[in-house]
Amino acid sequence: VVVAVIDTGIQLDHPDLAPNIWVNPGEIANNNVDDDNNGFIDDVHGWDFWNWDNDPDDDDSFGHGTHVAGIIGAVINNGIGVSGIAPNVRLMALKVHSSDGRSYSNLIYKALKYAVSNGAQISNNSYGGYGENPKMGALIDAAARVGHVFVSSAGNDENNNDISPAFPASYPNDSIISVGATDQSGQMASFSNYGRDSVDVAAPGRDIFSTITDSSYGWKSGTSMAAPQVTGLVALMRSIEPNLTSSAIREILIETSRPDSRLQNLVVSGGSVDAAAAVRAITQSLIPTT
Ligand code: CA
Repeated sequence: VVVAVIDTGIQLDHPDLAPNIWVNPGEIANNNVDDDNNGFIDDVHGWDFWNWDNDPDDDDSFGHGTHVAGIIGAVINNGIGVSGIAPNVRLMALKVHSSDGRSYSNLIYKALKYAVSNGAQISNNSYGGYGENPKMGALIDAAARVGHVFVSSAGNDENNNDISPAFPASYPNDSIISVGATDQSGQMASFSNYGRDSVDVAAPGRDIFSTITDSSYGWKSGTSMAAPQVTGLVALMRSIEPNLTSSAIREILIETSRPDSRLQNLVVSGGSVDAAAAVRAITQSLIPTT
């Protein structure tokens, strides 16, 4: 399963990530030719949309995208560091942020377009704001028609997204899974945005340990860390049943969430995602009943 990480880039040679970095099968590295004719020259592991070049390495001092990538798909059973939720995915690095975390919605638009047309079935979108790009909804719909699942962080402003929508989390598309963050006790993290009608699920997002730049590891908090937990889970679900539609995946995640009274009015699911239950829901439905 190919997962696009739309973020600050990924440290491509991080020892706990390198084997799982996506390799564009149609591109020959460094020959200065657009071998696969997709409009991008030497895009072997993704693209840097901010600097418009073929090196989507993570230059963020906090290693935001590298951290997100490790939560989704750090290598399992290699004796070092951490393991991702879906440790055998391929991580497509789509850098849309500057080194100090700025971006533009037209770059994100181009990155999502790239993700879908180059085979990423899922994208992780751990960024957001309160401005809407009118073009984005139509692109996310077009992506959903080819099965793309768009996972988005709900935001870190203690904001009710039902009242003040945060984007991209709050675009109305069925294929968007909006994720709030829980803390170690299982309640909503104090910083997390919420929304009984607009934030679909909750997942751990406080003090999460993962890969960071300089081939290192560290703890980070945010709905940015909660979204990739769900992205990894969606990748597991897709690895079992590749034909699950985006909206079916969203429904299963909501239905199989573990109910928690503390989350009842804060997220659609009224609970925290349960990876085992979500996977079980799919595997059991595949087993003949006779
Ligand atoms: Ca190319």
